[in-house]
Amino acid sequence: MAAHYDLFVIGGGINGCGIARDAAGRGLSVCLAEMGDLGGATSSASTKLFHGGLRYLEFFEFGLVRHALAEREILLRAMPHISWPMRFVLPLSPEMRFDSATPTSRLLGAVMPWLKGRRPDWLIRLGLFLYDHLGGRKILPGTKTLQLPGTPEGAALQDRFTKAYEYSDCWVEDARLVVLNARDAEARGARILTRAKVIAARRVGDHWQITLERDGISEMVEARALVNAAGPWVADVVQGVIGQNSRETVRLVRGSHIVVPRIAEHDKAYFLQGRDGRIIFAIPYETNFTLIGTTDADHHGDAHSAVCTDGERDYLIAFANQYLKVPITQADVVWTYSGVRPLYDDGAASATAATRDYVLSLDESGPVLLNIFGGKITTYRKLAEDAWDKLSPHFPGRHGHWTAGVALPGGDFPVDGVVRLTGDLRARYPFLTQNWAARLIRAYGTEAPLILGEAQSAADLGRDFGASLTEAELRWLMTCEYARTAEDVIWRRSKLGLRLGPEQIAEIDAFMAMA
Ligand SMILES: Cc1cc2nc3c(=O)[nH]c(=O)nc-3n(C[C@H](O)[C@H](O)[C@H](O)COP(=O)(O)OP(=O)(O)OC[C@H]3O[C@@H](n4cnc5c(N)ncnc54)[C@H](O)[C@@H]3O)c2cc1C
Repeated sequence: MAAHYDLFVIGGGINGCGIARDAAGRGLSVCLAEMGDLGGATSSASTKLFHGGLRYLEFFEFGLVRHALAEREILLRAMPHISWPMRFVLPLSPEMRFDSATPTSRLLGAVMPWLKGRRPDWLIRLGLFLYDHLGGRKILPGTKTLQLPGTPEGAALQDRFTKAYEYSDCWVEDARLVVLNARDAEARGARILTRAKVIAARRVGDHWQITLERDGISEMVEARALVNAAGPWVADVVQGVIGQNSRETVRLVRGSHIVVPRIAEHDKAYFLQGRDGRIIFAIPYETNFTLIGTTDADHHGDAHSAVCTDGERDYLIAFANQYLKVPITQADVVWTYSGVRPLYDDGAASATAATRDYVLSLDESGPVLLNIFGGKITTYRKLAEDAWDKLSPHFPGRHGHWTAGVALPGGDFPVDGVVRLTGDLRARYPFLTQNWAARLIRAYGTEAPLILGEAQSAADLGRDFGASLTEAELRWLMTCEYARTAEDVIWRRSKLGLRLGPEQIAEIDAFMAMA
């Protein structure tokens, strides 16, 4: 007999996993199917910021920015291991231009034509004032002005940049965020299936009949409600899997990043404005590197085919070099990645201008269906609550919103507790180096000792795969975090791919295949 669930979720990105966790915590029986690895698509390819999105203010997206700003501290408190506050340095330059398509630039062009498309200093300060006050802040410090000469922040920049604003947002390990939501959903009773592709979903009487394929085996399950959180494939699922025609479409907008050796000797990020009106970030990354991105290009074809093109790489290099004292070159690029934003198609003229807000589309023409369009990593928790508000009439008597203030696995410690936790871990396991302990706390928080167990020495943790990845950690990732291949481990559960060579990666794959 087919297993029967209250809710079936298609897609193990941040939105699917967030919805599964939220619903499981309300006592619903939930099943989630992800056709690849959790977070294997867009949700591991983001810029990795919990942010309000300063640039969206120019598009008058005040609602999106306010909600996202308010979320930052809620999320930070729930996961102080995988997210942390970050300061952003925004160097001022009179050469930088507006994107002429933004409502702000059109308005300014009409009332102050002499500015000729320039984004004036006072407008940026006004934007940052709104950014500081729209969403409420308790933990994150507000904006301040920096005189760059003689400062570490100024040292990486060309001498012509003398003044900057510095403001707050937060960093998040996006792929780990997905997995922790899935784990928490499972701990609350959800069934999480990876490498499980949903190939058909049909309404049969009062429920959905869903067919999935897992490791070549087909399985049929039933559910009262269906959530389509397939990200870039949301429209393919509506048409190909559910067999419906829909007027709602998704706009696929590719964004690519490059990683280079670190460009600055401090832990702040740069917010860089371009002459083309776009902005990019240069963010301290994995201790020794800087992450630079992103691009915005309409993407045609399958989302899996998204790669950082040579053109995008060169664009990012040239953009950053408008600011950097020591220019970066193609030879500096150690890694690139690319993802596809599944944006709701609002008919905007350019990819940059397309709305970043989400649209939840409810179909009650039979057993309920909820299609998810768009959304940010930052708004995933709120999106899950809003999804529940849409679904709740079909599940009367469940309790109210609960996820704000509830820690994700390993995140049950204070926001400023990482240093102490790292020290405690080293005291208990003296064989750990500082970097190793810090990496474990940043990945697993208070759960790190569960991996290390009773180990007295590194040898007790089994095989050493390099870059401090041991057999004990690998087994944890396989048994508790759904990892099946080396790629899952080195590019999503961690970023150890930046430090491991091809032979070491092959050894991890071989070990995982045998285990
Ligand atoms: C370049 C870039 C930078 C970004 N930066 C930020 C940022 O800094 N901050 C921020 O808040 N947001 C950012 N975003 C936005 C954010 O990453 C996305 O909105 C979010 O990850 C979308 O999550 P999702 O779960 O909807 O989609 P996905 O993560 O793509 O998940 C959808 C999943 O559905 C699965 N799936 C599809 N079809 C099926 C099927 N038939 N059966 C089973 N599974 C299926 C896919 O395999 C996929 O894993 C960025 C996005 C991009 C591309």
